[in-house]
Amino acid sequence: MASGQKVMNAIRVLEFGGPEVLRFQHDVPIPEAKDNQILIKVHACGVNPVETYIRSGTYSRVPTLPYTPGSDVAGVVEALGRGVDGFKKGDRVFTTKTITGGYAEYTVASVHTVFPLPETLSFSQGAALGIPYFTAFRALFHKAQARPGETVLVHGASGGVGIATCQIARAYGLKVLGTAGTDQGRKVVLKSGAHKIFNHREAGYVDRIQKYVGENGVNVIIEMVSNVNLHNDLHLLSYGGRVIIVGSRGPIEINPRDTMKKEISIIGMSLYSSSKEDFMETLSALLAGIESGWLQPVIGSHYLLENAAKAHEDIIKSAGAAGKMVLLMA
Ligand code: NAP
Repeated sequence: MASGQKVMNAIRVLEFGGPEVLRFQHDVPIPEAKDNQILIKVHACGVNPVETYIRSGTYSRVPTLPYTPGSDVAGVVEALGRGVDGFKKGDRVFTTKTITGGYAEYTVASVHTVFPLPETLSFSQGAALGIPYFTAFRALFHKAQARPGETVLVHGASGGVGIATCQIARAYGLKVLGTAGTDQGRKVVLKSGAHKIFNHREAGYVDRIQKYVGENGVNVIIEMVSNVNLHNDLHLLSYGGRVIIVGSRGPIEINPRDTMKKEISIIGMSLYSSSKEDFMETLSALLAGIESGWLQPVIGSHYLLENAAKAHEDIIKSAGAAGKMVLLMA
């Protein structure tokens, strides 16, 4: 490190493995904003399950070691690289991607992934926008082609993506059913726009959903735990129903025949496959949601940066989600 180089606290991953490979370091050089980049003083960074898969080294995207995880930060502009217009030092911003990693006191992001964070949202809420809300919008509209008046089941509605899905679906005129495993999670889901909530840890809950929706079934299922639920989903769907595979952590046996009579579609989705047009369309919708107030990220748990390893442990072995998990820098 050059003498006089300013340093910061940051999480560094030097080798792939369990949560313990997230090392809290005090002497990581503060990155510099190059052309068309912005240096952000990070206040909060969202923790997403994908960051645990990447950390384990078994995910389809393998970063070069060492690296700092984290894409969804909220903070203030610290410095501007050459060619950046429209931002000034001190502006509140959020990101959908970073270049140097968000689990850190400072991060550099490309200008086209940095957006103004309105005063109406806290830094923690700003850190809950990127992956969860962009995923929810893609699942509902780019993949399921959901339409106002349809019924959507958000199967796993109490976490980051689930709450985002409930808020967006409600704002766009769908009838929203959600599931959650705890009382607190169920309260949050109802406050986030669900018309009706079910407990996915309770025996017989699938029958209760079936009874509630009747013969017509559910038009769309946004599925967070496909490896557990896909078989049941096929029975809950209506004629022409679509199930969107957002999350899956293993295999499941289904009978393909269950898709035939009702001409059901099982559709995989990956946020990383979004085109630039998809991204811009989603961004416009979400910024409008922030402006008009229906988009209100709910924060479930906060961890200090130094406890990132514990956050990674807890997001996978969750006792029950009730909003988004966020890291705070101080
Ligand atoms: P999260 O905040 O950890 O939430 C997980 C959710 O799953 C909670 O609502 C949890 O409910 C629920 N759940 C647990 N067991 C369930 C069951 N048996 N049936 C239905 N739901 C159940 O995670 P997230 O950020 O919302 O992400 C959700 C999933 O989507 C993860 O697997 C993630 O990797 C994936 N994802 C995929 C993409 C993509 O591009 N495809 C993008 C983002 C996320 P309780 O805690 O209340 O039990």
